[in-house]
Amino acid sequence: MAPSLILINPWIYDFAAYDLWSKPLGLLYLAGYLRTCGFNVHLIDCMDVHHPAVAKSAAPARRTYGTGKFLREKALRPKALKHVPRSYSRYGIPKQLFVNALREAKRADAILVTSLMTYWYPGVTDAIAVAREVHPRTPILLGGIYARLCEEHAVATSGADRVVTGISLQGMAKILDELLDLNIVGNGTAPPSQGLPLPAFDLLHGLDHVSLLTSTGCLYRCEYCASHFLNPQVFRQDPLQVLNEILHWHREHGIRDFAFYDDALLVDFEKHLGVLLEGLVKQNLGLRFHTPNALHVKELSLEAAQLLWRAGFKT
Ligand code: SF4
Repeated sequence: MAPSLILINPWIYDFAAYDLWSKPLGLLYLAGYLRTCGFNVHLIDCMDVHHPAVAKSAAPARRTYGTGKFLREKALRPKALKHVPRSYSRYGIPKQLFVNALREAKRADAILVTSLMTYWYPGVTDAIAVAREVHPRTPILLGGIYARLCEEHAVATSGADRVVTGISLQGMAKILDELLDLNIVGNGTAPPSQGLPLPAFDLLHGLDHVSLLTSTGCLYRCEYCASHFLNPQVFRQDPLQVLNEILHWHREHGIRDFAFYDDALLVDFEKHLGVLLEGLVKQNLGLRFHTPNALHVKELSLEAAQLLWRAGFKT
């Protein structure tokens, strides 16, 4: 029997949070990779806005193109934030739905938890504590951006058995070493290291948009930004592979809205994004594209702007 893994995108604790094409893309890449390697993957997205057990009357309001509100419950401000006179919330599904989802995965060989913003760490700690209650004998591994940026803090406070910091999108095989170290081996063959696996968006409820990453890293090295630390090398996917990915989600799942997560989407436009957009214009599918991570205006020529418009860029 294939080993079973639970992958968790934890809650957010914050003063405000709004769903601008927010998906746990790194975790979904990992889920896609691990499936290919022969693991049973049980994905739990605490930020699920389409959870089937949430009554329609209680569902968060949704807006255009796949954006909208998250579910939320008021929470106590932590000591360090007591002086901020604003309401503080835990965003995401109710705790009981999370517990139910953990129980549905009757057998788990390991639990992998991701993390994003460093100051959202209370959601990580909470999710790990609940997972520990439901699966007390299962090892819990924590990865993601918070774990990489604040490793010592994560080791000291998260409650995870291991904090894993060496996994990148181009180096996902490292997770196999971590699992092997726990005597957990998949039934399949690891995919070649060239390119990225297809992220497992199909494991999400009510998929209404898909996030894309045509590149990682950024040529600009602003001192205040973590991009260079997280991705020291710039890596670009083959634009035609990204085109195939878009066509897959549109044809197989009817997706029309796509959000680019790139740090520097417009850099080297003619050889990279321009190639993808020319392919999209030829397909003429009426798709819509969004750039929640913003664009570098200095890279935006008149020709590039016209091609973005013709390809369906909306926001
Ligand atoms: S991603 Fe933006 S902020 Fe970060 S280094 Fe690049 S240009 Fe600067």
